[in-house]
Amino acid sequence: MIAMSFAKNCSFCNANIKPGTGTMLVRNDGSILYFCSDKCKKNMLKLKREPRKLKWTNKYVKGGIKIK
Ligand SMILES: [Zn+2]
Repeated sequence: MIAMSFAKNCSFCNANIKPGTGTMLVRNDGSILYFCSDKCKKNMLKLKREPRKLKWTNKYVKGGIKIK
C-alpha cells in the first residue's frame, strides 16, 4: 500500500487542510510542517507564537496554559 496524501492538519492552528491547499514545509531536521494559510506560517516561523495562546487556533486552551 502506498500512503496517499490524506487531508492534513495545520501544524499551527490544527485546522483541517483540504488536499491541494495549504503549504508544506520540510525543516532542516526532517520534520514536516503543514500550514493552512500564510497567517499560520508567519505566526509560527516568524512571530514564533504559541498556538495554545491564540483564540483563533484550534489548539487554544481555555483559561491559559499551566506552566510551572
Ligand atoms: Zn492554520
